[in-house]
Amino acid sequence: MASSLVRDNPLLLPLNGDKTVYDGFITVQCFLICLYCFCRLHCCWQLKHLLRGYEHIVKQVNSTLFRVSLQEVCLKSFPERHSIPPPQYYSQLISEMEALGWSKLLFLDPEFQTLRLKAEDSSGRQHILTVKLKSKHPAEAPECSADLPVPLVTTWTPQSTLEQLYSQFLLVLDSLTKFWDMLDEIDSKTWILEPEKPSRSDTMRRIAIGNNVSIKVEVDPRHPEMLPDCCLLGAEHVVSPLRNKLNANMHLWNPDSSVLNNLRDVLEIEFPSPATHEKSSFSMECGICYSYRLEASIPDQVCNDPRCGQPFHQACLYEWLRALPSSRQSFSIVFGDCPYCSKPITVKMAAQKS
Ligand SMILES: [Zn+2]
Ligand SMILES: [Zn+2]
Repeated sequence: MASSLVRDNPLLLPLNGDKTVYDGFITVQCFLICLYCFCRLHCCWQLKHLLRGYEHIVKQVNSTLFRVSLQEVCLKSFPERHSIPPPQYYSQLISEMEALGWSKLLFLDPEFQTLRLKAEDSSGRQHILTVKLKSKHPAEAPECSADLPVPLVTTWTPQSTLEQLYSQFLLVLDSLTKFWDMLDEIDSKTWILEPEKPSRSDTMRRIAIGNNVSIKVEVDPRHPEMLPDCCLLGAEHVVSPLRNKLNANMHLWNPDSSVLNNLRDVLEIEFPSPATHEKSSFSMECGICYSYRLEASIPDQVCNDPRCGQPFHQACLYEWLRALPSSRQSFSIVFGDCPYCSKPITVKMAAQKS
């Protein structure tokens, strides 16, 4: 019987000459279970719990183990993610997917626990809902995530289904349609300096206005029609007239119009667009390292002298000025001379990125 045990379970090795102690794996259905065979099988509750639904196979194995007088089966560290769902989990998943429609399934992992579902909003944009099902599905709520500018809040009861979850996701997408419409218009009609590749969760855009002048806007995903947080960046002599216009015309902000149209009206400017300008005319490289992107940052420190206007990375300018004996530092600000025109220039400590 000992030889048949080893024959049926090739991953089980005898540990002594009498073949009464074994270490290794026995195969139960498709799951490998790590066993340290020493005492009786039925005293290990963890293993019993794990094998629920497979009792008939366990009985077979148990009687074999008993015959070779094995005393106990201990479960060696069984990782959490292997908490194997009961058989009805799979039938439940299949019936829920049938109700939802298999065409919505983009991805399913080999453990049948992570699903990626595709969805389209009313403006035709594609979105992905990632659902991680718990082993106790549907008694326990699944974990959901998506590329959204707001937290994804869903409700789940033990009677809930994937189809209901998906409908909730569509409602969330609907509530954000206006926000994405506003940002899509900005992305298509202006030059975006940051973020490099905006995702659906990004609420910030840094829009080029001219050479080394840009505006950073932070659009509220819940109230995209309202005046966003704005920050003008560039040399002071160019930025301050724009800032004055923004303050003077703020009351003209029209919630029925788009963010881009409102920005045009309030700032009294036309944004350079991909149709009329090359991006290279705004993405001027840093005067110290001669590159545009330095890790995630772009050269946003600009010399305030109107005849110079040279841009620098904050980190580059900080290191440059700090190395010169003519510079002086007060708290986190370094005062020195522009490496290009020698006019006074200041920079904040590089670690404190705004
Ligand atoms: Zn640089
Ligand atoms: Zn300068």
